[in-house]
Amino acid sequence: MHKQNFKIILSFLLIFSSTLIFSQKKFTIVLDAGHGGSDHGANRSYADIGRVAEKDVTLAVTLKVGSMLEKNRDFKVIYTRKFDEYPSLSDRTNLANRSKADLFVSIHCNSSQRPTAYGTETYVQGPNQNDENLEVAKRENDVIFLDEKDKQTFGSYNPSSPESLIALKLQQNKYLESSLLLGGLVEDNFVNKDKRFSRGVFQKNLHVLRMNAMPSVLIETGFINHPEESHYLASEKGQSEISESIYNAIIDYKKAIDRKTGGSISVKKPEPEKPAESPLKNDFRILLLSSPTKYNDGDPALKGLNYILPLKDNGQYKYYYGVTNMASVKDINLKTAKDAGFRNAYAVGFMPNQKLLSGYYTIEVYTGEKLNGNSFILQTLKDVERNKENGVFYYTYGKVFTLEDAVKLQKDLETKGIKNTIIQKVFK
Ligand SMILES: [Zn+2]
Repeated sequence: MHKQNFKIILSFLLIFSSTLIFSQKKFTIVLDAGHGGSDHGANRSYADIGRVAEKDVTLAVTLKVGSMLEKNRDFKVIYTRKFDEYPSLSDRTNLANRSKADLFVSIHCNSSQRPTAYGTETYVQGPNQNDENLEVAKRENDVIFLDEKDKQTFGSYNPSSPESLIALKLQQNKYLESSLLLGGLVEDNFVNKDKRFSRGVFQKNLHVLRMNAMPSVLIETGFINHPEESHYLASEKGQSEISESIYNAIIDYKKAIDRKTGGSISVKKPEPEKPAESPLKNDFRILLLSSPTKYNDGDPALKGLNYILPLKDNGQYKYYYGVTNMASVKDINLKTAKDAGFRNAYAVGFMPNQKLLSGYYTIEVYTGEKLNGNSFILQTLKDVERNKENGVFYYTYGKVFTLEDAVKLQKDLETKGIKNTIIQKVFK
């Protein structure tokens, strides 16, 4: 009896496992038509064709791409919207993450203050940061504030502070390579097939990309406020060409990924979804070491870790690694620090945007020998303060009252070419 049961179970297991082996897993793609509903996106009225709204163009193109993909049995297509409605940005990314999608493609139209700007561009989530980058991030993230649920989830996310994103960005890095591949294919098709002008593939920090646990791109299909391009975007011909270019790129992308992984099971699946983690009240940084010595970026003493914030406090340089308000990321950062060799590292809480009550932050821009009046620093910055201590000259610049403002000031200096500065806490 027992033996027979065992046999039945065994043969059942065999059938079951062979179906698993022979049923090919579909490549799941989430297509995201940007904006929708009350969120019109970029829009402009023209005398001959009337109003062209981004939300309509993105939906039309998305549905065309989707219907082509649906004919291909290798693909499972999921839409964030098929109608004129507005799913929040987290609805969109949650859907993609929940579906364990292999790829996320968000379709948008561009607009610019400059009426002459035209062409296509594709964004991928990347670690690069610059001012223009942040402008785009803010523009695309503006919609976040329409939505109460998003506010709760991302209330602590501050798009004007690149520092607050580092942990999330690190997680995204592994998808960067694949996203760049698809972005390149899309832009190539726009140029070679449709004879359009491509502005390129860029790494940007966009909410809708950043929260995705899969390779993701955001395609700006053209400028709504450029008359010629807007007519193209609104036309049947334009929408068909654009969607074919995107479709072909997705097909080529899948082929390339299949070649890489040697099978039809493609990119590594994200972990099963865990219950949503709520953010902590404080930001946490990992204190790596305190030392009277100043180390510059890349100094061996920092053991190869990036994203280090040095903070001078009572004559000691304190080196902090990473910043996050999520407990799980904090733990990962601490482990990374310990693995790098900082055995005594520990997490320190910082209250976001806390004003110093007795004192201020300033930026130590230089220490060492006395600076010459025509040195780069003194030429570039006005009102640099100089102090001398034990024969060493300390030059500081600026006066702000929150750490966030100090980090911002430090980044401003970096864009002016003044690097390896230290934020200093001054007690008064
Ligand atoms: Zn848009």
